[in-house]
Amino acid sequence: MAKARTGKAGALRRDLEARGVKYMLSSYVDLHGVPKGKMVPIDHLEQMLNGSELYTGAALDGVPQDVSEEEVSSHPDPKSWIQLPWRPDVAWFASDLWTRGKPFEACSRTILNDQMARAAKQGWVPQLGMEAEFYVFQDTADGGFRPVSNRKNLEKAAYDVVRLVDNMSWMSELVDAMNNLGWDVYSLDHEDGIGQFEIDFAYSDMRTMSDRFVFFRMMAHEIARQHGYFATFMPKPYPDRAGSGAHFNMSFKDAKSGKNLFFDAGDKRGCQLSKLGYHFIAGVLKHMGAICAVIAPTVNSYKRLILKGSQSGFTWAPVFVCYGNNNRTNTMRIPLAGGRVELRAADSACNPYLGAAMVLAAGLEGIEKRLDPGEPHTDNMYVKTEKELKKLGVGYLPRTMGEALDAFEADPLSRQVFGQGLFTSWLDYKRDEWLSYTNHVSDWEKARYLKMF
Ligand code: GLU
Ligand code: MG
Repeated sequence: MAKARTGKAGALRRDLEARGVKYMLSSYVDLHGVPKGKMVPIDHLEQMLNGSELYTGAALDGVPQDVSEEEVSSHPDPKSWIQLPWRPDVAWFASDLWTRGKPFEACSRTILNDQMARAAKQGWVPQLGMEAEFYVFQDTADGGFRPVSNRKNLEKAAYDVVRLVDNMSWMSELVDAMNNLGWDVYSLDHEDGIGQFEIDFAYSDMRTMSDRFVFFRMMAHEIARQHGYFATFMPKPYPDRAGSGAHFNMSFKDAKSGKNLFFDAGDKRGCQLSKLGYHFIAGVLKHMGAICAVIAPTVNSYKRLILKGSQSGFTWAPVFVCYGNNNRTNTMRIPLAGGRVELRAADSACNPYLGAAMVLAAGLEGIEKRLDPGEPHTDNMYVKTEKELKKLGVGYLPRTMGEALDAFEADPLSRQVFGQGLFTSWLDYKRDEWLSYTNHVSDWEKARYLKMF
């Protein structure tokens, strides 16, 4: 038994043991971005780091492997470990999947690694902040759910202080946990839907943020559960309240100087964004349909990407393929201080590795081809007529999962980023999901048609 008491693994083991860690989770994500993995006692740290944990890929959703094929193994990133705040004897390691002695091309994290390596060749470190929105509910005796705060429903709950404070029991625990992990929470608020929240924390490189987002969802579930509640990252739990976005805020850091390469105080368009940033936007807009399929990956995602259907009237969710200044009616916007671009179409149910990989690949293409997104839209896009939109050349985001999958299939970028194996299995899996939904007969249909004719 290799005890990992010396060398690199030895130093890591001593550090983990000093913190009371006895078990390690060698963890990766399935196609949905849901964590999977095996638990390894600390005596076996060294083997785990060398990929001792094996999995039959066919047991996971969308993994392009036959039951007869060699297993995949998880190779933990030694620097990625996070001690579970609710279970401190366990440390979670984000891992890449390997097979046949090399990285598995259909692993979500590897797919992001590949795109980050493309950026690294140019001396760029892509940065990402994800603003995760989510609801926290309580189960009710009749099988339904309700917000934690038992106060009367408000017509407009956005930024509501009273309901925010009502939820501090679980929320302060979650924020403390995030801060103890060094994530630097800087703002929390009650969002537009009653029981909907956003906790914003510092951005980091795209891979670290993706690891943290996966962990964040798990941690929010766990802490809410300990209080008798549950957290949901479903994009649109109510038809008439705001959906849960997970806006991607992105910039490039210069690997050598640490400078933000998306910032330009002298920007002629007045948004304090550099040429590199504009090319990036243009690349993302060009591939928006295919990207949407990945960053808004569920049937329910497209019930969020609509104009109206929230308590404030408008949803604040994106609908059109366009970008603007600090103007939230655009799918991409350049927040006021400049130096970054925000993609608002992403929702809280996305697999962050695959989503970030698609967006980064599209942005890099925009940079390589020096694409220009034109002038930023500064008007309220939500109130434009069809005629005006046409004149402006502004099209719609996919309006259903089916449309998004068509766009994904038709765009060569998808195959390039996912690789042939995952491209096919992801699309097959998602087509089945869409078909299963379209074949379902809903209460709405029965109420409308059963006795109509
Ligand atoms: N909840 C909105 C969405 O679905 C975003 C609201 C905001 O701008 O924070 O994207
Ligand atoms: Mg928000």
